[in-house]
Amino acid sequence: MSEENKTLNFIEEIIENDLNAGKYDSVLTRFPPEPNGYLHIGHAKSICLNFGLALKYGGKTNLRFDDTNPVKEDVEYVDSIKEDIKWLGFEWVAEYYASDYFEQLYIWAQDLIRKGLAYVDDRNQEEIRTSRGTVTQPGVNSPYRDRSVDENLDLFARMRAGEFNDGEKVLRAKIDMAHPNMMMRDPIMYRIIHANHHRTGDKWCIYPMYDYAHGQSDSCEHITHSICTLEFDIHRPLYDWFIEKLEIFPSHQYEFARLNLTYTVMSKRKLLELVKNGIVSGWDDPRMPTICGLRRRGYTSESIRNFAEKVGVAKRQNTIELSLLENCVREDLNRRAERRFAVLDPLKIVIVNYPESKTEVMNAINNPENPDAGTREITFGRELYIEKSDFMEVPPKKYFRLSPGAEVRLKYAYIIKCEEVVKNGKGEITELRCTYDPETKSGSNSSKQVKGTVHWVNAREALPVEVRLYDRLFTESHMDDIPEDKSYTDYLNPESLTVVTAFAETSLKDVKESVQFERTGYFYPDYDSTPDKLIFNRTVTLKDSWTKQNKQ
Ligand code: ATP
Ligand code: MG
Repeated sequence: MSEENKTLNFIEEIIENDLNAGKYDSVLTRFPPEPNGYLHIGHAKSICLNFGLALKYGGKTNLRFDDTNPVKEDVEYVDSIKEDIKWLGFEWVAEYYASDYFEQLYIWAQDLIRKGLAYVDDRNQEEIRTSRGTVTQPGVNSPYRDRSVDENLDLFARMRAGEFNDGEKVLRAKIDMAHPNMMMRDPIMYRIIHANHHRTGDKWCIYPMYDYAHGQSDSCEHITHSICTLEFDIHRPLYDWFIEKLEIFPSHQYEFARLNLTYTVMSKRKLLELVKNGIVSGWDDPRMPTICGLRRRGYTSESIRNFAEKVGVAKRQNTIELSLLENCVREDLNRRAERRFAVLDPLKIVIVNYPESKTEVMNAINNPENPDAGTREITFGRELYIEKSDFMEVPPKKYFRLSPGAEVRLKYAYIIKCEEVVKNGKGEITELRCTYDPETKSGSNSSKQVKGTVHWVNAREALPVEVRLYDRLFTESHMDDIPEDKSYTDYLNPESLTVVTAFAETSLKDVKESVQFERTGYFYPDYDSTPDKLIFNRTVTLKDSWTKQNKQ
């Protein structure tokens, strides 16, 4: 293996081998979502993989909606899926629907009947299931298995024509009821569903099963590498069987491990339940692992693409740490986000030796990681807010922030000293009376040094801002391994959302992008925000507090 090859993932190796062997002229992949829900971070992984491979090898990617189940599907989902893929930064060359192929699939099913490789079965799904046998026992042939070709063609046509009720008949492939792979024991190809389809309306009342639609759709489009998740590996012999018997374009299926994340549920059924039961505010609730939820929370598409790259392509099931995703967005926003001052949990400070009516304008650096971002002005005055957590009445050793008699630097301003703690009747601290040292203005030549620096906001001008502090939706790291008598809803984190009113510097009014509230985290303006009421979502804290907590 060459040095370069070592860094290829196994699918890249397959593609390079295929291209070198001249098996295909160019690579064509597809992303095949079922339009029955919104895309989540697992889909993002699959999108990055399919589109990324094509881009890497000068190929193309189709978007194909796997719309073979009319009951659960909706145009709302189709639209959101397209929006999310575009937002992630990818372009498909063609948009298809499995339903585009219904006529072709029907003709091919007739071909299989003519070849003696498919038959109409009158038994219901339950009877079919119980006669399939087990892994250790062969199945039993259906009494309808040896119908003549003509009878099968006639019955299949009448199934299509709507002569039968739901479940009355199915079309099955005729393979081998004793096959060691249960998938090959005469799998169902078509079932009868009298339902309106979001694209084909009432034209069809028979619908192909996944196994009879997916590979054939791949073949119709001349997909070279059909990539799906691991649980489909047992379907692969069937995928190949249909293609071989129909003698159509030989697409091939490859499987990789689906993405699982700690503290997260990913199944669309569960996500739909969270939405329907009002546990979250919608598919785009910033706590959801959906792409629209992550976007609303302030994740950038770059950070998600970078995450997908870091996760890599595994052949075995694994669960990725949510903190890896969080680190990706931290890294990206550190470069990108401007800094602002906002105090989330305010404590009033009065600087008693600072003139009552004076204000000063201080220069603050917008982004130390990006000199082009320039500076902004913030005003300083006699009354300020600092974070409650930046003061301790009885500090432990090595506490370098404010405490009675101690000094701290107010960033971009002066060093102050806490002279007096003012309390109300209940003994709660209401305000700190401090003095400032006029010689210590930031940028001056003062030699005075203190260890702690804190952020602050001018109380007289501070903007009240609603801040939504999001945390993990679940308390359990491995949500796939919870005990059987428990439900995932037993593990909801009661503190996944805390809403506070913060005070921010006035320039926050104009912020339309991700921003770092200094020393606190990255925040993103919510679409509920108005000029009169600013609302910011916390994307992520500056440091990973969970890892710390878990280590304690
Ligand atoms: P769910 O089980 O959540 O309903 P699904 O697999 O049924 O998901 P589809 O719409 O059929 O959802 O998925 C479209 C594509 O995305 C498929 O190729 C599927 O393999 C892939 N995909 C879905 N979930 C993940 C995941 N967690 N990790 C990687 N790929 C995924
Ligand atoms: Mg699916």
